[in-house]
Amino acid sequence: MTDCGGDLKLEVKQASKEFKESENVAEKYSAMTGTNMNVGELSAAFTAVPTHKSMKKIQFANQEEKQEFSKFPTKTGRRSLSRSISQSSTDSYSSAASYTDSSDDETSPREKSQVNSKGSSDFCIKNIKQAEFGRREIEIAEQDMSALISLRKRAQGEKPLAGAKVVGCTHITAQTAVLIETLVALGAQCRWTACNIYSTQNEVAAALAESGVSVFAWKGESEDDFWWCIDRCVNMEGWQANMILDDGGDLTHWVYKKYPSVFKKVRGIVEESVTGVHRLYQLSKAGKLCVPAMNVNDSVTKQKFDNLYCCRESILDGLKRTTDVMFGGKQVVVCGYGEVGKGCCSALKALGAIVCVTEIDPICALQACMDGFRVVKLNEVVRQMDMVITCTGNKNVVTREHLDRMKNGCIVCNMGHSNTEIDVASLRTPELTWERVRSQVDHVIWPDGKRVILLAEGRLLNLSCSTVPSFVLSITATTQALALIELYNAPESRYKQDVYLLPKKMDEYVASLHLPNFDAHLTELSDEQAKYMGLNKNGPFKPNYYRY
Ligand code: NAD
Repeated sequence: MTDCGGDLKLEVKQASKEFKESENVAEKYSAMTGTNMNVGELSAAFTAVPTHKSMKKIQFANQEEKQEFSKFPTKTGRRSLSRSISQSSTDSYSSAASYTDSSDDETSPREKSQVNSKGSSDFCIKNIKQAEFGRREIEIAEQDMSALISLRKRAQGEKPLAGAKVVGCTHITAQTAVLIETLVALGAQCRWTACNIYSTQNEVAAALAESGVSVFAWKGESEDDFWWCIDRCVNMEGWQANMILDDGGDLTHWVYKKYPSVFKKVRGIVEESVTGVHRLYQLSKAGKLCVPAMNVNDSVTKQKFDNLYCCRESILDGLKRTTDVMFGGKQVVVCGYGEVGKGCCSALKALGAIVCVTEIDPICALQACMDGFRVVKLNEVVRQMDMVITCTGNKNVVTREHLDRMKNGCIVCNMGHSNTEIDVASLRTPELTWERVRSQVDHVIWPDGKRVILLAEGRLLNLSCSTVPSFVLSITATTQALALIELYNAPESRYKQDVYLLPKKMDEYVASLHLPNFDAHLTELSDEQAKYMGLNKNGPFKPNYYRY
């Protein structure tokens, strides 16, 4: 796995022939033996781990936010619909920043008739004329997604996704476009829709439509548009999906409710988000999951990279773009010291902010202490803070009482997936005045003139107000692509109707593909060392319970 420059066949040849079902992780570990295979046979190397055995705990936002597929909202049930959209839209991280403001043309894309240069009209986007501009955006993203591009180049001869008909529902951004175009290069046909009504980059959607991908999405969809677009993706005469790539579970939900027969052909679901994975586990528990599913969210290469490094870089970007704030010497409290909180704290500290942390979990609190952050209760510090940032995945972490006590000019924002962390609704009372000062920036003004600066109305800051780093999304996208290849090529008997985690070997492979970017030189185990450690020289190098 250390030689990332060779043929993919060679790279995966060390992977295991068999990954036996066993409670003994060490036994699984040493059962990984060498074999030669092509990409289509990756599955033999990477038999995924059923999550009920490998995972003891998955964290979800909270009980009240649990969603069931049976609760699909109708026009009369909009409340649950908006919740569904907001949750699914904030779990994976992509840029909400589109350079094309949808406000310049009020006509709904549903009322427009557009064709691409090849005469196809099988798409619905804001404006096909933006395709060239979108292509440049995709090219910029490609520059920092070289591992995904190298997977594309190496596997496009084999076409491991030949015959795959992938219906996808993700943020439609330049980085996702690189993933979609990789899947197409590997042989897949793709129909795509957005998992978030705000995050589509219109010009990127145009470039995809121009290149022949059937894409149904635009920035600023209504709720009705959102479901209409999903339906247009799934419900196409003469075309039936056999793979699902979802981010938030709304697409999977739609297929379950409206087109259950599609599952007769579907070989698997790949799900990226906490919310979507949660829904899959609910289905599985209820015995209603009728195809295998891959939980990409809990892959090390997603959780330990996307959540930590993506937020470490984009928190500052989001705050700067919206407020032009200077960080040096500012008093900041970060609520939650999980992966996202750790990333935010380290970035803010590096720029000279004085950071303290709130936590409910003594382990994370101890980590914060050892990293040099003071652990406090929000009540104790809220009066002095210049910025309050939530990253808990919880609700009502910042209440009206906290907001009342903040000082003039305090910046309040959220990095967690749901817009429930700050009780924004409590600020919509007659005595408070809201003043929109910039896009996504509101001043909430108290009767005495005090102003609190609220960003993105409490929605995920980086998704709403900045871009996120392409490199990190390359890691997530490569994991998604391999999960699709695995599920599509696996013999029927390999996966049951259950939710699976990709095995460590796969995570290691994704990581190894990204190492050449840094000219990183991996140390190889000697025979003696491998024997001493009880490891296969080619990995996996850690047991499944290892936490990194
Ligand atoms: P995590 O579970 O690792 O961390 C959350 C932390 O918050 C935990 O340590 C938990 O103990 C703590 N917490 C919970 N309730 C709290 C409360 N009331 N007060 C203080 N602390 C509390 O999760 P994570 O990976 O850090 O993700 C956090 C949130 O950010 C999730 O909603 C996730 O979906 C989202 N997320 C956002 C981005 C992004 O780009 N903005 C990226 C990844 C994840």
